[in-house]
Amino acid sequence: MATDRSGIHLWIVGGGVAGMAAAAFAIRDGQVPSANIHIVEELGLSGGSMDGARSPAVADAFVTRGGRMFEEKAYQTTWDLFPRSA
Ligand SMILES: Cc1cc2nc3c(=O)[nH]c(=O)nc-3n(C[C@H](O)[C@H](O)[C@H](O)COP(=O)(O)OP(=O)(O)OC[C@H]3O[C@@H](n4cnc5c(N)ncnc54)[C@H](O)[C@@H]3O)c2cc1C
Repeated sequence: MATDRSGIHLWIVGGGVAGMAAAAFAIRDGQVPSANIHIVEELGLSGGSMDGARSPAVADAFVTRGGRMFEEKAYQTTWDLFPRSA
C-alpha cells in the first residue's frame, strides 16, 4: 500500500547545492511533493557558494562566479545530480 506523503513538509535551511540536492532527492526518492519543500535562504540569491545567474550570452545557460574545476577526486558539485547511467 502506497504511503500518503501529501501532508509531509520539508524545511531546508540554506539554498546552496547541499540544500537543493536534499530537495531533489526528497522529491525523487522520498516522493515528497515539490510544493511541500521549503528552502529557507538568508541571501537574496540562491546557490550559496555555487550561486550563478542566467548567461547574458547563451540562451538557457547559467554561469557561476569564480573559477570552477571539473576534477573527479576533489570537486564534484558541478557534475550532474542524477547521473544518466544510474
Ligand atoms: C570561488 C569558489 C570556487 C569553487 N569551485 C568549485 C569547483 O570548481 N568545484 C566544486 O565542486 N566546488 C567548488 N567550490 C566549492 C563549492 O562551491 C562548495 O563546496 C559548495 O557550494 C558548498 O555547498 P553547500 O550547499 O554545502 O554550502 P553553501 O554553498 O555555503 O550554501 C549554504 C547556504 O545556506 C545559507 N545559510 C546558512 N545559514 C543560514 C541560515 N541560518 N538561514 C538561512 N540561510 C542560511 C547560506 O546563505 C548559503 O546560501 C568553490 C567554492 C568557491 C567559493
